[in-house]
Formats: sequence, structure tokens, C-alpha cells
Amino acid sequence: MPVITKNFTIETQGHSQILDITKQVKSQILNISISSGIAVVFIPGSTAGITSIEYESGVMQDLAAAIERLAPKSIHYNHDARWGDGNGYAHVRAALIGASFTIPLQDKQLLLGTWQQIVLIDFDNRPRTRKVILQLIGE
Ligand code: ZN
Repeated sequence: MPVITKNFTIETQGHSQILDITKQVKSQILNISISSGIAVVFIPGSTAGITSIEYESGVMQDLAAAIERLAPKSIHYNHDARWGDGNGYAHVRAALIGASFTIPLQDKQLLLGTWQQIVLIDFDNRPRTRKVILQLIGE
């Protein structure tokens, strides 16, 4: 079964910035030889996550607030005591969101909902250049 692996890079501001990467992901599948299967969008990194949401300012603020409640910036993190890089909350947030998102592919179309965008959330405490990996398995 064919496997295609692609990637693209994106500049982020960090600080829990939410970026819509749906267009970048879709552009990667325009000329591929697989028409049906699954697509995995993955971020190699321990301070960012990939998920989906409606890319609308209200719900993105709500998500940011929910994440702040789950893993607040202001509490003690053992990671910071050990490494001193001050981003313990970013590692915890990334673990909660997860590093990948899977989308069914059918007839060269990603079966996303109309209001379902693929987003990268960069939780790190500084701007980063992020590599996003897209892997497709199918026929
Ligand atoms: Zn760290």
C-alpha cells in the first residue's frame, strides 16, 4: 500500500498562538497518487499540538481559556525547576492536545466538516519555525 510523506514549515509566534493550517495541508495533497485512505498531520515537537476547531475568534478565545484552566501558566512546573526554560506549561498543554490529527481521504478530498479547520497551536514561550509532517496511506 502506497505511503506518501510530505512536510511544510510555518513560522509561529508561540504563546499559544492558534494557526489555521488547513490550506497548507490541502495544498500538499493536490498532486498525489493516492485518492483514498487516511491522512495524518503530525508535529514533531513537544511544545505544540495539532487539532481541529472552527477557526472563529470566539471559540478560539474559549479554547485558549479552557487550556489556561487546565494548565495555567502561573503555577509551579517541575520541568522549569529542572531545565529553567520556563515552558513547563507548554509541554503539558501540548501533551493534552496531542501531536497529530487524522483525516479520512476520499476521492482526493479530505473529509473535513465545513466549519472544521486543522489548527496548529504553538504553546512555546517564544517564536518558532515549525515543521509539519503530512503522511498519507492509501490507494
Ligand atoms: Zn522545556
